[in-house]
Amino acid sequence: MSDVDITTITDPRGGRAHLVHTDHVNWVILQDDSGVTLIDGGYPKQVDAVLASIREVGADPEQIRAALVTHAHVDHIGGLGVLAERYGFAVFMDPTEVPHGRREILQQATPLDIAKISYRPRVLRWLSGVIRLGVLDTTGIPSSEAFAASGPLDLPGRPVPVAIPGHTDGHSGYLVADGRVLVSGDALITAHGISPVAGPQCLHHAFQHDLARNRESLLALRDLEADTIFPGHGPVHHGSMADAVDTALSR
Ligand SMILES: [Zn+2]
Repeated sequence: MSDVDITTITDPRGGRAHLVHTDHVNWVILQDDSGVTLIDGGYPKQVDAVLASIREVGADPEQIRAALVTHAHVDHIGGLGVLAERYGFAVFMDPTEVPHGRREILQQATPLDIAKISYRPRVLRWLSGVIRLGVLDTTGIPSSEAFAASGPLDLPGRPVPVAIPGHTDGHSGYLVADGRVLVSGDALITAHGISPVAGPQCLHHAFQHDLARNRESLLALRDLEADTIFPGHGPVHHGSMADAVDTALSR
């Protein structure tokens, strides 16, 4: 697991939230006495990496009670369908995201969208990496279901959904570790294979269903008391949410 690093935040009740950061995408493991909640599940070809990360934090895949999804893009749900079936857990997301999870609709960059930006530096290198991870896989998760109306959810880690629409219509973040950490999905990231900058930022518009709405959604995050961001792409970020949002919006 040389290209994987794990950041762990422990909450006062002894629960642990782990950011699993890999070269191309991240996922999060919530762990407490009641078991494990997985948030997102990497690319289709990262099933073994997800399992390895769960074991690395001292948990067992049999302890997974449910998975949550920030949004139903292939790099976040790719491996989840297989795991959900193998270990018999439910996959929850924002109600608006459910048809996307089931692939009744698709709000994802097409190969043509990517072709249009392929002249940019880094894009071809990024593409060759993610093709190997299964970026072209169009499989959804037919068992996708909506999480309960409001949080905290009755799942290991007591995650609290935070609606951050724009990147997809039903994109959701999650407050974890007693509100100290925002799992921000792709609404706010800290690095990406095609981005020339590091630190808080929005994804390139080619990957955004509605970039203007994404940027507007970020304003509501400024008042959160979280001091740590677990993004969908890039390393962990520490600092105030207001500063992170302002930095992202200034780019
Ligand atoms: Zn992503």
